[in-house]
Amino acid sequence: MVHSSRGSQSLQRFPRRWSHLIRILGRTLLISSLLTTTTLTVIKQFGLLEPLELLSYDALTQRQSDRPPDPRLLIVGITEADLQQYGWPLSDETLAVILNKLQTHNPRVIGFDLYRSAIATDSRVLLAELEAQNLIAIMNVGSDAFEGEVPPPPTVPWDRIGFNDMVIDGDGTLRRSLLFVGSEATERPFYSFPLRIALAYFAEQDLQVQFDAHSLLIGEQKIPALTSYSGGYQTIDASGYQTLLRYRSRHTVAHQVSITQVLNDRFDPRLVEGKIVLLGTTAPSLKDQFYTPYSANRGGEFSMSGVVIHAQIISQLLDILSHDHRNALYRSLPSWSEPLWLLLWSLLASSVAWVLRRPIFFGLGLGSTLVIFWCVGSFGIGQYIWLPLAEPTLGMIIASGLVITQKLLYRSTHDWLTDLPGREMFIGYIRRALQGRLVNDGNHPVVVAFLDIDRFKLINQSLGHTAGDRVLLKLVQRLQNSLPATTQLARVGGDEFALLFERMSQTAIDEFLDQLQQDLARPFTLDQQRLAITTSIGLVLTQPGRTYPPDHLLRDAHTAMYRAKALGATRHEVFASGMLTEATHRLNLESALLDALANQEFILYYQPIISFQTGQINGFEALIRWRQQDNGFISPAEFIPVAEETGLIMPLGTWVFQSACHQLKLWQHQFPDDSISISVNLSRRQFQQMELVEKIEQALTDSNIAGCCIRLEVTESMVMENPDDTIKTMMQLKALGIQLSIDDFGTGYSSLSLLHRFPMDLLKVDKSFVGRMDHSDEDREIVHTIIALGHKLGMSIVAEGIERHSQLAILQDAQCEYGQGYLFSGPLSSQKATELLSKPSIWC
Ligand code: C2E
Ligand code: MG
Ligand code: MG
Repeated sequence: MVHSSRGSQSLQRFPRRWSHLIRILGRTLLISSLLTTTTLTVIKQFGLLEPLELLSYDALTQRQSDRPPDPRLLIVGITEADLQQYGWPLSDETLAVILNKLQTHNPRVIGFDLYRSAIATDSRVLLAELEAQNLIAIMNVGSDAFEGEVPPPPTVPWDRIGFNDMVIDGDGTLRRSLLFVGSEATERPFYSFPLRIALAYFAEQDLQVQFDAHSLLIGEQKIPALTSYSGGYQTIDASGYQTLLRYRSRHTVAHQVSITQVLNDRFDPRLVEGKIVLLGTTAPSLKDQFYTPYSANRGGEFSMSGVVIHAQIISQLLDILSHDHRNALYRSLPSWSEPLWLLLWSLLASSVAWVLRRPIFFGLGLGSTLVIFWCVGSFGIGQYIWLPLAEPTLGMIIASGLVITQKLLYRSTHDWLTDLPGREMFIGYIRRALQGRLVNDGNHPVVVAFLDIDRFKLINQSLGHTAGDRVLLKLVQRLQNSLPATTQLARVGGDEFALLFERMSQTAIDEFLDQLQQDLARPFTLDQQRLAITTSIGLVLTQPGRTYPPDHLLRDAHTAMYRAKALGATRHEVFASGMLTEATHRLNLESALLDALANQEFILYYQPIISFQTGQINGFEALIRWRQQDNGFISPAEFIPVAEETGLIMPLGTWVFQSACHQLKLWQHQFPDDSISISVNLSRRQFQQMELVEKIEQALTDSNIAGCCIRLEVTESMVMENPDDTIKTMMQLKALGIQLSIDDFGTGYSSLSLLHRFPMDLLKVDKSFVGRMDHSDEDREIVHTIIALGHKLGMSIVAEGIERHSQLAILQDAQCEYGQGYLFSGPLSSQKATELLSKPSIWC
């Protein structure tokens, strides 16, 4: 039941801290990454990311270095100059001569990449050349609406005819090649022009073309068909058997000669022998030009002619069929793994966003992650693996943005330093606990504890705020190690923490807090300095059947904490309703006090001090009175401590001193023969202020009063606090002629060894001793001792609170010099005190 036992603490230690971390990781990182992945995957379904993917593919493709011209190929191009010379279209005779000249050098295959559907029947020479077994002719299947279907040359048989169908992507770029169209039902499957040529090149191997739903099988080589979700494609028209075209080079896929060179025999025959010779148009004016991925960074100007594109496809096919697979076919991730790929990078970016706190580091971190990601993508393209890039890039940006947003939200409810929830969240916890209490048995109260570090200000002031922060972290660590797993901890102020206990009995909580305070008070080392901190705890328990606003519970625990502090460090106090009234009263007092000085609600009273030697008034003690309009007189014992705490004591003290001087001046004027002195009380804060001496000197000058008529009263605890500084101040005051008096002597702690160092003139025996003196021998002894001690130290003695003649007799007997008390007179208004002075009388 008691949760503070050591064993259970160590068990709770691990899960408490890690479960918190795992909760955050789970919530923040996973949620943002999953959300991003799902959203982008859905967006991708509609092909909206495809243009970006294609752009990124082009960007990386352009970076790849060109490979040397394919030695297995020769392009015989019809150039602009050729057109000038031979006109367009070329005559059947010219074509026949070209083919004939090429055939004389034994090419392995001639690719006749020119549409020649109508050949004059008398053009026997060309028809004869087209009959050559190594010649592959082209036809257009008519998918291009502009060009329509262009049949093959009429005499060329089907097995030497390949179709031409350039598959252009939505952005006008040619990235794919359609190799084959056919199905089980097709009687005569369509072979692309490049495929026919490649097969003819390997004619000796007699490669068989087979196909299934997903790939084309040529001999033993498998060519997977491009589908939607290959690399960056999402919505392609994936009919037929397409591959992603691998460009060999942007400039010279193969050696090129012009038909003029061929017709004039100005070419190296070795370029023809045993090679594939492609005859086609390269002149741009013939408009047989296509944009490729290389066009992207040339403003779209850079394009390739159809015959060059065919050469690229053939070169790729030759590599595939000659088993040079690695450099020939692009691969892509299987479609199911793309979301995982996206999730992986989103998670990475969101982790970076979570871990790096400062914006600059976050920017650098995310930038580096993106750079690494693009390097991976670039490496992939280099290895002919096409990875989606645009989608994860967006994913990383969105996921990290979501994390940052969550972080900001988290930071608005959690403390930066300790990572603990703040006040708002804690109040939410209380609310939930209160609701749970109604649902549950209600046997155990909801308990809110308010913990405050004693004298934390001192640590901050002496060791600095950084050390203060470390002390707080140390404390939080200890708290977290000690708290039961079900207890909620929050930081609700600088050095203030709140704890919420549920389903624990009051005795268990009591025992737990005892142990906790002991644990927290164990000294620890900070920068080689041993430190021990104590804490004060206030707690409030709910009563069955009552309803509580959550913030009131925290407020009450806070009030109880103040009580604990007032009663002394390292303790905990349970809230009682009286405390609230007290606290409210005090708050009202504080706010009323702030206006009281301006409203002139303060007045000074004067209590006569009688000299036992002369029996006459020796002087007065000025005692402040606060006359509130509605509530009458309020005792200084009640409001002086409040004025001290709020700082109001400074202007108030100045006012008291000035008024006392003013009154004394009036009396000196009225009763020039009397040597009247006035005693003024100083509070701790007044006494410690830097400008005390200057202020007093100023007031004396202003009222034209000699310092020797003033007695300043300070208590013994005030002087004992900081003896060296006190002595310095006292010496300065004495230099003004002022007399010093030690007030309420006997109630504080005096160090006798120090006492003689203070230049005090008077010692005031506290009224508590005087009051009991005539009934208690002990108190009488004490008074005797104090008087003797004062005399030994060269001080005159004033006895306070003399109410009876018996007390007066004892004091006179003990050689006490002065006395004040109700026996002579209570504190009087200035008018009454003046009346007293004007009727001189013997008091004792
Ligand atoms: P104190 O300086 O010890 O003042 C003496 C207190 O004893 C006064 O209470 C006075 O009214 C009271 N007293 C006088 N004769 C008798 C008696 O025969 N029997 C009893 N039981 N009490 C007697 P008071 O005026 O309520 O002042 C309380 C305390 O408030 C003072 O104690 C002093 O410490 C503080 N105080 C009063 N005026 C001022 C002020 O102007 N400035 C500062 N800083 N403190 C002041
Ligand atoms: Mg006094
Ligand atoms: Mg006193």
